Amino acid sequence: MAAPTGLVIASGNAGKVREFQHLLAALNLAIEAQPEDLEVEETGSTFAENARLKAVAVASATGSWALADDSGLSVHALGGRPGVHSARYASSDAARIARLLGELEGAKDRSAEFTAALAVADPSGNVRLEVEGRCSGFILPMPQGSGGFGYDPVFFVPTTGLTYAEMDKSLKSEIGHRGRAFAQLEPRLRSLLNS
Ligand code: IMP
Repeated sequence: MAAPTGLVIASGNAGKVREFQHLLAALNLAIEAQPEDLEVEETGSTFAENARLKAVAVASATGSWALADDSGLSVHALGGRPGVHSARYASSDAARIARLLGELEGAKDRSAEFTAALAVADPSGNVRLEVEGRCSGFILPMPQGSGGFGYDPVFFVPTTGLTYAEMDKSLKSEIGHRGRAFAQLEPRLRSLLNS
């Protein structure tokens, strides 16, 4: 078998990195974390734009292939917020959930959607692949489940009867926004890295 190609996961978010390690397990890749001191400003107004910014910055800084994910939760009753600002909505996962539940108090429509935009950049910093995946659900009034990260305990997916935080890794990979995006990316990533 050929030597594994290095791929840097362009994220400092431990929850995302864990999910990518699971999703990428079947590919012959040497997965690396991005340099700790690298801060990429997310100045884009869409998930796709921010994913591109991160992939290009990390590939250019490391000289390796880079896979970036920009993702977030869009709540219909809040006009799509927190959206691209999901990470910056408050200072911790618990505070982000508390703010979201506070803003939704009394709301009749609790429908929401998670989006993940993925971008792959080559070692010269050119974007080579881009995909987007989504998952629809509802925001529960109280957290439920202890797995996952971020807004997982309040994001309920009716087709499964579970929150993201109650799903095992494989189920979230199959039906979740990141897993759905990755399913589109995987065959293209395989052929790109093997070409
Ligand atoms: P960014 O893509 O690094 O800007 O941040 C995305 C933010 O959206 C994370 O910090 C989480 O708060 C949230 N998020 C993204 N994906 C997930 C997920 O799979 N579960 C829960 N929260 C998520």
